[in-house]
Amino acid sequence: MKKRTKKLLTLLVALLSYSVMPLARADMRCDRRTNILRGGQELDFPLMNSDVIITCAVTGAGDTAGKHPAIPVTPAQIADAAIEAARAGAAVAHIHVRNPDTGKFSRDPNLYAEVVERIRASDTDVIINLTAGMGGDFQLGDTDPKIAGPGTDLVGPLERLVHVERLLPEICTLDCGTLNFGDGNMIYISTPDYLRAGARRIQELGVKPELEIFDTGHLWFAKQMLAEGLLDAPPLFQFCLGIPWGAPADTISMKAMADNVPPGAIWAGFGIGRSQMPMVAQAVILGGHVRVGLEDNLYLDRGVFASNGSLVDRARKIIELMGARAVTPAEARRKLGLKARP
Ligand SMILES: [Zn+2]
Repeated sequence: MKKRTKKLLTLLVALLSYSVMPLARADMRCDRRTNILRGGQELDFPLMNSDVIITCAVTGAGDTAGKHPAIPVTPAQIADAAIEAARAGAAVAHIHVRNPDTGKFSRDPNLYAEVVERIRASDTDVIINLTAGMGGDFQLGDTDPKIAGPGTDLVGPLERLVHVERLLPEICTLDCGTLNFGDGNMIYISTPDYLRAGARRIQELGVKPELEIFDTGHLWFAKQMLAEGLLDAPPLFQFCLGIPWGAPADTISMKAMADNVPPGAIWAGFGIGRSQMPMVAQAVILGGHVRVGLEDNLYLDRGVFASNGSLVDRARKIIELMGARAVTPAEARRKLGLKARP
């Protein structure tokens, strides 16, 4: 073979292999749903979550009504916020109620009933998740710590579930431990005996408890309740990060929790304030589901107030830009094994 022909052939082979390389690469691409290469070889690392449940916590119980122009306060506003969130892509709406006159938190079952009835009467499907975390606040008195301070709102474990018993949402929360709450003399009280009593009642009602984990010991005790048969499988955890003084909103804390859930468990995680959107990405990367909403964060961007819809929309975009998707309420029900309510 002449030297020139050989050179041309070499060039042609190089060009051909270069042009088919992307195809070969595409063929080696990971099928994100199965965690298996198309050639049949299994990957040895866990992949991110590709089917993500977005929960929107639409109002919360915080003292935020004066800090944002449109915090949902009345039952109609809270129901509308849940519907708005669902239309933007949330599968679950996490709901507190507020005193319509003052904007402060409330545990009034009639307010919960109005919110739930409005959502159920709408043409928008969304899984209703009612908080059962209220009624655990104890503020140490200024002069005598044994005398409750003005911020105290403390009731027993079953009284925290009155609205859940009445309305039977698909999900209610269960805050899995006691915590220094805020930076003063407030503690959130949820003792092991209270938690066992609450978990047992929630199980009897056929409601799915979302286990709120503010620190690693809460996860430890939640697993203890699972071992004692007080929680039905699969357990659903929510890692609540960045709330002073629980676990901070960082990769190490979220990963420490994610690495310690029992096999088959479903978990979500969120950060508050500025960490809300970074923690959306972080949860998806670690295999979890996400939560956003005005309960945890008031701003879409620096100086720009968010709405529940705009926060869900941004979370959904982050999820989609990562190659994953947000699931529908029907898909989320199947994942969580929920009993659909009328
Ligand atoms: Zn909440």
